[in-house]
Amino acid sequence: MAISGKSGTVYLVGAGPGDPDLLTLRAARLVMGASLIVHDGLVDPAVLAMARPAARMISVAKQRARHTLPQDEICALLVREALAGNDVVRLKGGDPFIFGRGGEEAEACRAAGVPVEIVPGVSAANGAAAATGIPLTHRDAASIVSFVAGQCKGLTEQNWAGLAGKGRTLVIYMGVKTAPQIAEKLMADGLSPDMPVAVVENAARAAMRVLRGPLAGLPDLVARERVKSPALIIIGEVTAREDAALAILARETVE
Ligand code: SAH
Repeated sequence: MAISGKSGTVYLVGAGPGDPDLLTLRAARLVMGASLIVHDGLVDPAVLAMARPAARMISVAKQRARHTLPQDEICALLVREALAGNDVVRLKGGDPFIFGRGGEEAEACRAAGVPVEIVPGVSAANGAAAATGIPLTHRDAASIVSFVAGQCKGLTEQNWAGLAGKGRTLVIYMGVKTAPQIAEKLMADGLSPDMPVAVVENAARAAMRVLRGPLAGLPDLVARERVKSPALIIIGEVTAREDAALAILARETVE
């Protein structure tokens, strides 16, 4: 606690998809020097293990439909600690500004006069692309890439038309539970049932799994293989390229 009344800083830090080697140097330095870390459930234990033993660790783990701490309470916690004079390292899976609610936390801090610094992280899509060998763009296959949330308010009414198809890659975060609605929605928008799809579970982690199939078979694939969060669904021709298949094969052979 500060005696002077000077506020601490809140660092909104991207922890990447898992492997601690994918942290930025800035993130690694902040994690190793932190006295207080507030983290999500998605942050890999190997990243948390980099903290000093004396660091205070607060988990605000969230799961779909089961919020341990509501977002406004997380914001209040960050502000309260900072106003008490403590620097706070707020660790988030992937990048804080991609489906990470980092925007809300930054706004809450600024509204309370608390200084905020944002440290970017490798988002799950980038981690999954590198780990699987699936290029998100490719001169021969895709010049547009979109990131969407598969679990959001009014999913079926959302206009995704044109986000997937020829020359496009669609990356769906948080789409495991809603895979049947997603496949149905995309096919209703005119996407071919044969469009290749990859599901990447635990990207950039030791337990990574990559599953492939046509769009029409996505619901069955997810159910049959018991895909669990965290997983990404990648839709587009890039998922069926030979180099991606070879990279996955090489990885499976090594393991
Ligand atoms: N800010 C994060 C995303 C948070 S939303 C980022 O930039 O990556 C949570 C979703 O991210 C999960 O439901 C899953 O779809 C995806 N995700 C996060 N980490 C992942 C991982 N290691 N492998 C696959 N998907 C992951």
